[in-house]
Amino acid sequence: MLQKQNIFLISGLVLALGAFSLIYVWNVRCKSSRRYTISKEMALEAKGVVPVLVLGSGPAGLTAALYSARANIKTLVLEGNKPGGALMETSYIENWPGVKRILGSQVIGQLKQQAVSFGAEFLVDSATSIDMSVWPFIVATENGITIRALTIIVATGSTPKKLGIPGEAQYWGKGVTTCAVCDAPLHKGNDVVVIGGGDSAIEESLQLAPYAKTVTILVRKDAMRAAASMQDRMKEVKNIKVEYNVELQEIKGTDSEVTEVVIKNSKTGEVSIKKVTGVFLAIGHDPNSQLFKEEGMVDKNGYLQLVKRSQKTPVEGIYAAGDVADPVYKQAGYSAGAGTAAALDAASFLQDYGFNAAVFKQMEPNFFEPFLEEKIEVPLMTSLAQLKNVLTFSKTPVFVDFFAEYCPSCMRMLPSVASVGAQFEDKALFVKVDVEQAKEIADAYHVGAIPVLLVFKNGQLVARYNEAMTRKELVDFVEQFI
Ligand code: NDP
Repeated sequence: MLQKQNIFLISGLVLALGAFSLIYVWNVRCKSSRRYTISKEMALEAKGVVPVLVLGSGPAGLTAALYSARANIKTLVLEGNKPGGALMETSYIENWPGVKRILGSQVIGQLKQQAVSFGAEFLVDSATSIDMSVWPFIVATENGITIRALTIIVATGSTPKKLGIPGEAQYWGKGVTTCAVCDAPLHKGNDVVVIGGGDSAIEESLQLAPYAKTVTILVRKDAMRAAASMQDRMKEVKNIKVEYNVELQEIKGTDSEVTEVVIKNSKTGEVSIKKVTGVFLAIGHDPNSQLFKEEGMVDKNGYLQLVKRSQKTPVEGIYAAGDVADPVYKQAGYSAGAGTAAALDAASFLQDYGFNAAVFKQMEPNFFEPFLEEKIEVPLMTSLAQLKNVLTFSKTPVFVDFFAEYCPSCMRMLPSVASVGAQFEDKALFVKVDVEQAKEIADAYHVGAIPVLLVFKNGQLVARYNEAMTRKELVDFVEQFI
């Protein structure tokens, strides 16, 4: 009897599971094979239209924009929260085709210039939602803009992974970071660790070596996966050493800075303490595909899925290129190639639906026009006395932005500070401090890693924020104090 009941129970479970799987598969298939009514008439009626909208401004996004704009198709790039992407945080690249050695930021600068020269337009903004149930797609942005896009090229890149160990969040921006280019000069003469065994770990170490006393790369296995050529470069640098089979367990320090890390040897089980001032993470990246997860457009690791040998995603009219859709190669040159292909795929979609020069001409009055953002000239504080004077006499809260030209995230944040400064002109005062020029101000307020934003009310320090902020995050932050 009991056995019979069990058989019924198991059969019921199997049936339920089968039904659930069928519904799931049907749902995913429906979502991914969905087609919209696509017609020139609908595009002609829509307002704020962009034929090609590129999300992201790394090598994939910029190359896509270059191809698309050069084909005389109006192209708008939403540059994202980190304009230029990961290349802005690397130093020299020796495998960018055609150039023996070039800075990552130069590659980005040149690509952008080339895209602009053919008419591509740029906005420092990010997409926050995409309605893919209608066409032209409706894209809403962080700055509150709505754009109707005939095609979208997703080139949103990836975000460095974090370890999730004790102390990581507490000391983020106070010694723990993923950007050696930004923070290396802050560790002059000190000992630092880099976590990871890939090319990025070596890249970070090479950037740190000229400043730090010692750089120890902590590798969790008994070998590095970095390219042999990178490992050879590393071996030539005397103050870089590697420890294998080790895991970082905890990051410790004072209120304001990292002082030591707890390391476990996974072979011997031995736990040791290492005195360091910096922890640089280089443990890989997660694709920035959040907007597409719900739509069943990503694989189990979050990479946007592509249809056969193309840059087409499962949603017609949406294409992807670069690290967001590349679980394998992850090279700037490859991303640029994928951006090229994505632009060509988008162009042939438009052509297939009859969008030619004459139709685009007809659409012109309804094209989205990027607005010109208002910005203030943010005063530069060059001495502590000058800053103290401002703090004493200001009737509004004062926001002090610490930056340096060598810090890419600082340089990205400066335009947002200028723009938010204009938005809150009567309610808040924004000033900036170059930590290289005015070290006495940085020292007086214990500014280590940058960017840092300090907030003063009635001359008193009331808050500090130790990370780069997007424009939207900056607005939300400022609103707390006015
Ligand atoms: P990778 O994915 O190649 O390497 C990540 C490393 O981090 C691996 O060694 C991995 O260990 C380790 N790791 C992952 N999780 C943890 C963890 N929780 N604790 C400790 N270690 C961990 O990422 P990269 O960012 O290095 O490189 C990404 C791509 O970019 C690659 O294709 C690379 O070639 C490219 N690149 C190229 C550069 C150049 O040409 N100059 C520079 C930088 C990157 P394990 O090996 O055990 O899995």
